[in-house]
Amino acid sequence: MQKYDFFVIGAGSGGVRSARLAASFGAKVAIVEDHYLGGTCVNVGCVPKKLYTYASHFNYDFEDSRAYGWTVHPPTFEWSTLRDNKQTEIKRLNSIYRSILENAGVEILTGQASLLDAHTVVVEGMNYQAEKILIATGGWPFIPEFPGSEFAITSNEIFDLERFPESILIVGGGYIAVEFAGVFAGLGAQTTLSYRSESLLRQFDKDLREKFTVELSRHVDVLLNSEIVEISENDSGLRKVRYADGSEAYYDCVLYATGRKPRTDNLGLENTLVTLDSRGFIEINEDFQTKEPSIYALGDVIGRVALTPVALAEGMNLARNLFAEKSARVDYSNIATAVFSHPNLATVGLTEEAALDEGIQIDVYESDFKHLKHTVSGREERTYMKIIVEKSSNRVLGMHMMGADAGEIIQGFAAAMKCGITKVQLDSTIGIHPTAAEEFVTMRTKRS
Ligand code: FAD
Ligand code: NDP
Repeated sequence: MQKYDFFVIGAGSGGVRSARLAASFGAKVAIVEDHYLGGTCVNVGCVPKKLYTYASHFNYDFEDSRAYGWTVHPPTFEWSTLRDNKQTEIKRLNSIYRSILENAGVEILTGQASLLDAHTVVVEGMNYQAEKILIATGGWPFIPEFPGSEFAITSNEIFDLERFPESILIVGGGYIAVEFAGVFAGLGAQTTLSYRSESLLRQFDKDLREKFTVELSRHVDVLLNSEIVEISENDSGLRKVRYADGSEAYYDCVLYATGRKPRTDNLGLENTLVTLDSRGFIEINEDFQTKEPSIYALGDVIGRVALTPVALAEGMNLARNLFAEKSARVDYSNIATAVFSHPNLATVGLTEEAALDEGIQIDVYESDFKHLKHTVSGREERTYMKIIVEKSSNRVLGMHMMGADAGEIIQGFAAAMKCGITKVQLDSTIGIHPTAAEEFVTMRTKRS
C-alpha cells in the first residue's frame, strides 16, 4: 500500500496550495480530485465569473463611448464565443495547476475519495495510507426543494449554457445572485432578480446596499420580499414561475443562487472521529485539526470565510505548521472583499451597523458623487464611498465603496488598515488626481 506524509482530498484553492507547499518542505504528498484541478474558483467560480463580468461591461462601454465621439454600430454579442474562449482559458489553467503540482513532486490521483479510518483514504477501490490527511473538499450549490425545483440551475451550470437566455430569473440576494444579475443584464438578457427579504447582500454596510439596489434596478428588475412557490415547464421549454403573491412569469432560464453547502457527502466521516457543526461544516480547532487528530480541514468546508484568498492563507498556514516552522495563526480580521456586480462593491473592516452593535463610538464620513467619466457619458450611475472611524483613537475601522474598480481600490486601503491607519493619516496622504480613489484621502464630510 502507498504511504504518504500528507494526503489532500480536494484540489481546489486550499488543497492545492497546502499540498504544493507541504511537498516543497520535503513531505511525501498526494492530492485527489474528482472533478477539476483548481476547484471551484478556477472552474466554476472566481475566474470564469470575472471573465463574464468583463464581457458584460463592454456593453456599458459601447454606450458611454458615444458621448466621447465614437460611432458605435449596434454591437452584437455571441454567447458561444465567450463560453468557448472561457473554456479554453480554464483548460489552460487546469494544465498549469497540474504542472505546478507535478513540479513540486505532488502525486495527483483522480476519483472520489473517502475515509476508511483515521489514516486510510480509498480512491477508486485503492487504499492509501497517510500520516496526516487534509479535507479541502469545498462546497456545492444548494437549491431549496419545492415543486419544480428541478427546473432551476445553479452557478455550476450557468457558465456553459448551450444557448444564451433571452430572459433569466435569478433567485437569491448574495454575492452570486447580484454578480450574475449584472452579467446577464450587461450581456443583453431581460434579467429579473428575486430576493426573499428586504435588502440585498445582508452582510454589507446598509448604505452601500441601499445605494447598490438603486443602481442594480437601472438594469435589472429587482423583486424584493419575493418568494417562489412553483416552477413548471411549458411546451416551448420556457420556465413558468409562480410567485407566492399569485403572480406568474415565464423565463428562458431560472438560476438559483441560494447559497452553498459544505461537500462532506460520501466522505466516510463516520469511520473517523471527525464531527460536523449544526450547519454541516467540519469542526476544527484553531490549527485546522478536526476531532480526529490525524485529520485536518480548511477552506469552504469549514464555513469560516468562503473566499479563495482565505482558503489559500489557511492552506499555507497548515502546510507550514505541519512540515516547516510553526507560524502565527491566520488573521481573519479586516479581510477585504469585493462583489463584481455592476457597479462593483468592495469593503474592508466594520460596517457602520457592526461598529454600533459593538458599542464603539464612531464618526462616519461619506461621499456620493458622479464619476468624472459619466459627467460626459451622461450615465446616471453614482459612486459612493464611506469611512468608519473610531472617535477615541481616530483609527479607521471600515472602508466601503460602490463604483468602478471598487475591488482594486479597496485592496490597497486594506493594507493600510492592516497597519492600523488613522483618519488623520488618510487625510495627510496626497491623492492621485483625477481618480475616484482620491476621495478616500480627501473626504471631509462627517455625517452629523
Ligand atoms: P474548492 O475550490 O471548492 O475545492 C474543493 C475541491 O474538492 C473541488 O475541486 C471538488 O471537486 C473536490 N472534491 C470534493 N469532494 C471530493 C472528494 N470526496 N474526492 C475528491 N475530490 C473532492 N471567491 C473569491 O475570493 N473571489 C471571487 O470572485 C469568487 N467568486 C466566486 C464565484 C462563484 C460562482 C462561486 C461558486 C464561488 C466564488 N468564490 C469567490 C468562492 C471561492 O471559489 C471559494 O471560496 C474557494 O474556491 C474555496 O476553496 P476550497 O479549496 O475550500 O474549495
Ligand atoms: P450567499 O450566502 O452570499 O447568498 C445566498 C443568498 O441566498 C442569500 O441572499 C440568502 O438570503 C438566499 N437564500 C438562502 N437560502 C434561501 C432559500 N431557501 N430561499 C431563498 N433564498 C435563499 O451565497 P452565494 O451562493 O451567493 O455565494 C456563496 C459564497 O461564495 C459567498 O458567501 C461568498 O463567500 C463566495 N463568493 C464570493 C464571491 C466574491 O468574492 N466576489 C462571488 C461569489 C461567491 P438571506 O440573505 O435572506 O439569508
